[in-house]
Amino acid sequence: MDNRTETIAIHAGNLYQPSTHDITPPINLSTTFLRNEDGGYSGGHMYSRISNPNRNALEHTLTLLEGGQEACAFSSGNTAGMSIFQALPPGSHVIAPDDMYWGFKKQLQTIFNHILEFDFIDMTVIENISGFIKKNTALIWIETPSNPLLKVTDIVAVSEIARQYQLILACDSTFASPCLQQPITLGADIVMHSSTKYIGGHSDVLGGVLITAKKNACWEKIRNIQQTGGAVPSPFDCYLLSRSIKTLPYRMKGHNENAIALANYLEDHPAIERVYYPGLESHPQYKIARKQMKGFGGMLSVLVKGGADEAHKVVNKVHLFAQATSLGGVESLIEHRYSVEGPDSKTPQNLIRISAGLEHIDDLIADIDQALN
Ligand SMILES: *Cc1c(COP(=O)(O)O)cnc(C)c1O
Repeated sequence: MDNRTETIAIHAGNLYQPSTHDITPPINLSTTFLRNEDGGYSGGHMYSRISNPNRNALEHTLTLLEGGQEACAFSSGNTAGMSIFQALPPGSHVIAPDDMYWGFKKQLQTIFNHILEFDFIDMTVIENISGFIKKNTALIWIETPSNPLLKVTDIVAVSEIARQYQLILACDSTFASPCLQQPITLGADIVMHSSTKYIGGHSDVLGGVLITAKKNACWEKIRNIQQTGGAVPSPFDCYLLSRSIKTLPYRMKGHNENAIALANYLEDHPAIERVYYPGLESHPQYKIARKQMKGFGGMLSVLVKGGADEAHKVVNKVHLFAQATSLGGVESLIEHRYSVEGPDSKTPQNLIRISAGLEHIDDLIADIDQALN
């Protein structure tokens, strides 16, 4: 079988075979491509904003990893998501989660607030969702697991509501990566990733991607926004992402392992009030996470006993964890989330968000341990 995740990750991006028989596809920097006498483009490309070999390879791999029909790669996660909202008819109503990546919520509230209407609700209470659906509702946006509270949304349950009311269901699956959850196979119409995170995995490339379940009219609009709007990743960025995807399934296994060990350790620590990690049985949506995820991911948040001061002390005392925003890289990161999100944030002041990297788990625990004691 060559449709298993690890195998797709390594082979799907090797789309074309140059005469030099490269094992690794080269970076194709050409912005323009030769036209035939009959006016066609037998090489398959015309102009690199519209398509180029490295982007095609990346999009093809992600399509297969997510079990979708097609993918569009963008220059950032936020632009990927933005393209979905640009594709909605003006005046549409959108239901979005109360806990979601703040930079994306900021985009909705400061750029799309003039064009679209929003309700931000608790998506973990499925019974609530139908009550918010209006005549002009067009889209349900979910993010699971969510940032920074690691709330898990039941994708199958929400997709049934979306189908009943003929709404588009889009899922920001960044925290899960394509290896731990496949929202399309669970009923979502469009999956979004910030490929800056796990897909890139080395904190050195910015990118985003959408994968669709169906090539329908909405997707054609999104494809046009990508190709004509032009917020596309460079061939080099696409190369870096394709290179990173080869190790994604194994990196995710390591992230899962380290995060669960950190979560277990922190849950028992007297200086910690609460741990948010979907792989802990104490997590309110543990059962849903187990049902829809193949692993629980590398992200966890904790409440430090005390307040903002105690939380700041911990992030300033660690040595191995870098105090920085973002996530999904091979190196462990830690941050005081409230001060990143700013005064409008609903994130608890004593919350620390951890991106568990791939260092040895004993070193990570020893570092947190000395910072907490
Ligand atoms: C980082 C992130 C985004 C935004 O992606 P960028 O690549 O930074 O534009 C969106 N959603 C989630 C869950 C993220 O973590």
